[in-house]
Amino acid sequence: MRIIDKVYIDGAFVTPHGTKSFELFNPATEEPIGSVRLGDAEDVRLAVAAAKRAFPAMARTSQAERIAMLHRLRDAVKARAGDLVAAMTEEYGAPAYFTGFSVQNTASTFEVMAAAVKDYAFERTAGFSAVTMLPLGVVGAITPWNSNFGFIASKLAHAIGSGSTIVIKPAEQSAIQTQILLECLHEAGLPKGVLNIVNGTGPEVGSALTAHPDVALITFTGSTPAAKIIQRSALETMKRLVLELGGKSPTIILDDADLDAAIPVALMSGFANSGQACVAGSRILVPRSRRDEIVARLKRETEQLKVGLPSDPDVRIGPLANASHWERVQRWIRIGREEGATLLTGGEGRPDGLERGWFAKPTIFTDVTNTMRVAREEIFGPVLSVIPYEDEADAIAIANDSDFGLQAYVLSSDEGRALRVARQLVAGRVVINGAPHDPRAPFGGFRQSGLGREIGSYGLDAFLEPRAVLLPGR
Ligand code: ADP
Repeated sequence: MRIIDKVYIDGAFVTPHGTKSFELFNPATEEPIGSVRLGDAEDVRLAVAAAKRAFPAMARTSQAERIAMLHRLRDAVKARAGDLVAAMTEEYGAPAYFTGFSVQNTASTFEVMAAAVKDYAFERTAGFSAVTMLPLGVVGAITPWNSNFGFIASKLAHAIGSGSTIVIKPAEQSAIQTQILLECLHEAGLPKGVLNIVNGTGPEVGSALTAHPDVALITFTGSTPAAKIIQRSALETMKRLVLELGGKSPTIILDDADLDAAIPVALMSGFANSGQACVAGSRILVPRSRRDEIVARLKRETEQLKVGLPSDPDVRIGPLANASHWERVQRWIRIGREEGATLLTGGEGRPDGLERGWFAKPTIFTDVTNTMRVAREEIFGPVLSVIPYEDEADAIAIANDSDFGLQAYVLSSDEGRALRVARQLVAGRVVINGAPHDPRAPFGGFRQSGLGREIGSYGLDAFLEPRAVLLPGR
């Protein structure tokens, strides 16, 4: 049993003022594996005060100093990659292919930001004025459980790159992962107060952070409903916001697609991270002329995907993160049936042979119309909807007919055609023919998928604001 009983404030692991605790489970076995002592509003107050004290010196650091800090963070994460993978496997249950990627990506987040800082023009001219891009002050970050390491690292990287200081409230369900990552970050030896992490719940610690008058910017990754509460609270003190939220991303299979290549990509995009991904391609748009052939392939290949323990290297889909999320996904499967969608494969309950653990069956609905709730709302689990379209224009119209706009996928034998379609999609990122992850591409969404962009110079722009000094006689 892991007992996490410290928060991280002003460069030290300290006992929080909050006294409540939260139990931690292994989602693949449902067994308790530890507990975390939760912080409260007083801990937020102390953490923000530490970050505020550290801000002036951090804001004055040179680009070279920030790059050196980012490199130290990268190296500290790499040094304990094995421990990070083990924590993520036990507490989150992600399959091996995903834990390996996630830890590598966490380290590369710091590397990518270091490169962006090197190239970023902090000093500019506009007209006859000298313009300096300035950090805003203390940043408050709130992160979810579905990629705990990656999001903490990304928020911290943006803070360091911009010369800000940060207080992070991670998801309390991921406290063991947070603890191991935090031990790495501590090793990097950042100046005291630059990084602070307070475990706690959203309504208590998260909302204390969003309401705090000394927090200048909130960077949040999570659900759209939570973002709306945060946005209302941040309004009072005019906080800047960077929001990376939900999606209902379309995967457009064009009528010329080679199905041997396209079907595995569509399923990987939809079932990535066991479906617990904001970028999941959860609406599969298929040409009506090839509908039956595609649906048959989707069914066959989904039923071949191995669901099971994260320790098994052949497993593609692990358990859902917690019991209440499992219940929620079950409810969504019932909603799909009640709305009149046809169950192609999967359904309610656990997969055969997995009596324990929060495993859900990879589920696909057909005969879905784009007006159904299963096509419009984010499920955040392994539940996909197949929607037929008539022609390319219809596919684009259906893809764009969404409250979201985070990511889209286009599959075609003709890359030029796929590119033409991609250019008509309202999405923060469009992935063509299963292109690999690009850690340097801007990330964020249109519409209710978010506000602002993260990564590289786009991410720095959101964390900085210009001060123009007007000079006489120029
Ligand atoms: P998820 O379903 O991924 O938990 P949420 O949006 O509920 O999505 O949670 C993402 C993060 O936001 C978590 O750290 C959570 O504790 C936090 N959070 C939830 N509600 C609030 C709130 N009202 N104010 C601030 N943070 C919140």
